[in-house]
Amino acid sequence: MVLKDAAQYLTCPMCDTDVPISGDERVVEEIFCPYCQTPLKTRKKKGTEELYLEEDF
Ligand SMILES: [Zn+2]
Repeated sequence: MVLKDAAQYLTCPMCDTDVPISGDERVVEEIFCPYCQTPLKTRKKKGTEELYLEEDF
């Protein structure tokens, strides 16, 4: 089993805190901002590999 140590950080759209996410960008996962507790989803920008966080109220 290979563990991918590819943790990265994305910016919370609500409070601009850096939120740690897993390295598996293929999964749209629900996470919570550790600072403002906003539910967030990781999304991928169309046409790029760039990830961003989106509110998921
Ligand atoms: Zn936040």
